[in-house]
Amino acid sequence: MVVNGANDDAKEIRVERLTKSYRGRAGQRITALEGVDLVVSRGESLAVVGPSGSGKTTLLRLVAGLEEPTSGQVRYGNRAVTAIRPEQRRIHFLFQDAPLYPSLTVEKNLAMAYRAGRGSAEDRQARIEGIAERFKIRHRLKSMPEQLSRGERQRVALGRALLSRPGVLLLDEPLSNLDPETRYRLRLEIANLRREISATMVHVTHDPFEAFTLGDRVAVLNEGKLSQIDRPESVYRAPADRFVAGFVGFPPMNFLEGEIEETNGNKRLVVRNGERVVARFQPPSEGTGVTVKRLVVGIRPEQVRVSRSPEALPWQEAVIRRIERFGPNEYWQVELSGETLVVKGDPAWRVSLADRIGVHLKDSSLTWFAADSGKRLG
Ligand code: ADP
Ligand code: MG
Repeated sequence: MVVNGANDDAKEIRVERLTKSYRGRAGQRITALEGVDLVVSRGESLAVVGPSGSGKTTLLRLVAGLEEPTSGQVRYGNRAVTAIRPEQRRIHFLFQDAPLYPSLTVEKNLAMAYRAGRGSAEDRQARIEGIAERFKIRHRLKSMPEQLSRGERQRVALGRALLSRPGVLLLDEPLSNLDPETRYRLRLEIANLRREISATMVHVTHDPFEAFTLGDRVAVLNEGKLSQIDRPESVYRAPADRFVAGFVGFPPMNFLEGEIEETNGNKRLVVRNGERVVARFQPPSEGTGVTVKRLVVGIRPEQVRVSRSPEALPWQEAVIRRIERFGPNEYWQVELSGETLVVKGDPAWRVSLADRIGVHLKDSSLTWFAADSGKRLG
């Protein structure tokens, strides 16, 4: 697949059974990345998301050819990245705190993207000014890097990335150190930039929201292993395992663990808290591999139905224990027979602590996982 508008330098990146181990200080083996397989198409933008320490930077450095894998390989098209001379890789690497040349003005820093000496001097100057305008740093062209705010420095770094017209653009959490508003604005800039440079992009972040809004596809890393790679909507709707389900979504998905019990030929997942039965669920239909006895059901806060008064079944009584309000959004932590759930609330109800409401965990809204492996069923 070639994404429309991919530039000629855009490369297809093939990551094959990639493993990287390090020696820790005490001589122990640290496996930063284990058996990762993925392909980024020419001109595609892949967002790699995972918690701190999950191997994101390691993956990016290996993709850039800055390090040798312990096993497996990275190829650009049909060539191993390490077999391509660095200046021919046409990679631009953007870091969390992108380094600028401290002794050069912003303008000269931007001009460094032109080291290869493409185009006429007038042409370059016009492009630099265009970029400065675009990233709102025109009034900073004569400033030195130390005079800039973090956000401005990242804008310069982004501008330089755009001017260098890379075939592969690798971004390692470039927005992580910025305040929320600057972060929001620069995220939009990156999304736009993506359409203009049409490089193959790999964007690493620990923020699922950033990953979902910037990636054509999203790859989720957990402890060095790839849990899932798919379109954002598929990752949200059908998470591969319990880790992905909990990591992607805010507030996180609720989980209830129970055991399959059979009475009169009817199988039900029964969730207990001590002696009390918290809930009973109809397991997914036959043929979806319900062979294990212990299962976990997941339900997102927005999927829990709420009612103002706990009426007859299917409504169950729950007590509000905590209320979180942020503008038009409201989340309630509720207690259901001793278990805690987070539900999306309705601000118009004006609930208070200790209020009793009804909740309904609809069978059709549940996601099922095996308790031991954490894998999603079906
Ligand atoms: P992330 O970018 O997702 O936070 P990293 O790729 O930086 O994760 O690190 C993954 C794991 O590998 C971590 O446990 C980290 O401590 C370890 N690690 C990374 N680089 C080195 C190194 N040069 N030497 C030893 N351990 C490393
Ligand atoms: Mg990192």
